[in-house]
Amino acid sequence: MNAKPAVIVTSHKESPVDLEIVRGELGDRASIRVVPLPHRKLTPVEEEAFISQMVDAVVIFQRPGFITRKIIEACPHLKFVITHGAGVDKIDLKACEERGVWVGNVPGANANAVAEQVVAGIMVLLRRLTIANASMHRGGWKRGRYVGREFSEGTLGIIGFGNVGRRLAQIASGFGTRVIFYDPYLERGKIHETPGVTGYDNLDDLLGQSDYVSIHVPLTKETTGFIGLRELRLMKKEAILVNTSRGGIIDEEALCVALRGGMIGGAVLDVFSEEPLPKGSPLRHFSNVVLTPHIGGSTRECLQRIAQKACEEILLVLSGQKPVNLVRTAGTGIDLTSRA
Ligand code: NAD
Repeated sequence: MNAKPAVIVTSHKESPVDLEIVRGELGDRASIRVVPLPHRKLTPVEEEAFISQMVDAVVIFQRPGFITRKIIEACPHLKFVITHGAGVDKIDLKACEERGVWVGNVPGANANAVAEQVVAGIMVLLRRLTIANASMHRGGWKRGRYVGREFSEGTLGIIGFGNVGRRLAQIASGFGTRVIFYDPYLERGKIHETPGVTGYDNLDDLLGQSDYVSIHVPLTKETTGFIGLRELRLMKKEAILVNTSRGGIIDEEALCVALRGGMIGGAVLDVFSEEPLPKGSPLRHFSNVVLTPHIGGSTRECLQRIAQKACEEILLVLSGQKPVNLVRTAGTGIDLTSRA
């Protein structure tokens, strides 16, 4: 009897995949191996050691770690790399394309979790909740210090109106918040599917009109450094900038300059150009910045949903079929969807 095809799952306790679901769904059909690929660039020696655990891979289900050209080229049976969520920026798409390896994602499965976190982060700043809470735990009671602002009274500007952006628009509209968005790649007609939400053709106008700006674009050549000093200067003085998409989209040095100079009111950051965020990062020192360690999609429900949907895609590949969600990333110029 032939050995079962190898499905490699990158997972470790800091960045876990729901392995119970993976084992339950795929255990009969595949040999599942968990490889704790660290979520950082590896030294050549480390990379070789991890590659030796992955060479027989037919499928790689990636949560932590970078799926590099070296890994892709070292796995002769590799057919499919699927990421745990939406962003495929940690996978060498060009190498996959050259080797005829499909790249898939699980679009939309984490949209609600991320959108809820965006609203929570904005509200923490508007009502100064973490500061009031810390003061109370130290024995304080300073009611006069915490006069806040209401989320529903402001305008939310969403950059990138995909799965997360649209879910965020729904949630914010439910609060009565005015919602505007910018997404030049959106198919015509989709704009009208979200009633009461206005699309802008011009990013500068959105930045100037928003009280909260939330970024939901993939990290591509075009979006690297998308929000720099020029863009931050266009924002309102009290505006809150939110990034739960990818580090590198905001120029972090420029953001620190803007925060120090009082150009904007604060920031909510879940993702960073270097992860883990270095201990000495100046971002750690602003009281008007809410920081979280890339946990936008880290809810129990979301991990279950993603594992379930990823397994459905993997099962299709193992039975010789094409997965449903192959990657076509706006702005990258790469389209891996069409290969038969
Ligand atoms: P999506 O692919 O559904 O939507 C992305 C949208 O961005 C698309 O509508 C696209 O047209 C638009 N876009 C691309 N380039 C643009 C540009 N230059 N200007 C304006 N719009 C542009 O993706 P999604 O599910 O909404 O997720 C968005 C990003 O959030 C993902 O790429 C991922 O990197 C990140 N993400 C992070 C977490 C987290 O844990 N923090 C979780 C999920 C997703």
